[in-house]
Amino acid sequence: MHLDLKQRFDSIRQRVWCAEMAAGRQPGKTKIVAVSKTQSADAIRHLYELGQRDFAESYLQEALPKMEVLRDLDITWHYIGRIQTNKTRDIATHFDWIQSVDREKVGRRLSEQRPEGLPDLNICIQVNISHEAGKAGVTPEGVQELASSLSGMDHLVVRGLMAIPERDSHEGGTSTSHSDLHKIYRALQQQGFKLDTLSMGMSDDLEVAIENGATAVRIGTALFGARN
Ligand SMILES: *Cc1c(COP(=O)(O)O)cnc(C)c1O
Repeated sequence: MHLDLKQRFDSIRQRVWCAEMAAGRQPGKTKIVAVSKTQSADAIRHLYELGQRDFAESYLQEALPKMEVLRDLDITWHYIGRIQTNKTRDIATHFDWIQSVDREKVGRRLSEQRPEGLPDLNICIQVNISHEAGKAGVTPEGVQELASSLSGMDHLVVRGLMAIPERDSHEGGTSTSHSDLHKIYRALQQQGFKLDTLSMGMSDDLEVAIENGATAVRIGTALFGARN
């Protein structure tokens, strides 16, 4: 099983490297975030031993016990799941990055509840880029206003945008959703927001994401195998 993990990790790094080269980007710059939801602490530890440092979780109740078991490791933890307001204190306490902030109220609570003595929380604004009903994320039209209000909060650093583009949007290798998100990101940078993180691309769409400017990809299945 752990031999498979090594092979899959090598294969993902290869795919990312090829996509960076194809896009004329500097190879090795894209951050690979390993999405470890539903995976065991043991599997996370093995991937860590292979050199992976950034891990992402979607469910707080599942993540906290694993994080406790893995306390001895120097992991950068990303939260990428839905955020209920009654969970913000735990999220603000245990994670380094929150990639799924999509409303001001959640941002305000995360900022207020970030424990003293810890570095400011790194934030990505989640954007519902494909305008899907019922999907998390602020609308593309609402991104700028949310970025402005989050930027004023004491214990947050707004690092960029995160999205899960609709699957249909990238069939055949082109994607309006990915390029739309890149345009919003560029526009914010031009307005003076100091952003360095465009988090899009998962197991199936990392190539098209990197082609469209992704700086971070979030990979679950292609690293760990299918989730139960
Ligand atoms: C589960 C998840 C991923 C990883 O998806 P895979 O297709 O398994 O690579 C990435 N981002 C978010 C927000 C997720 O919930």
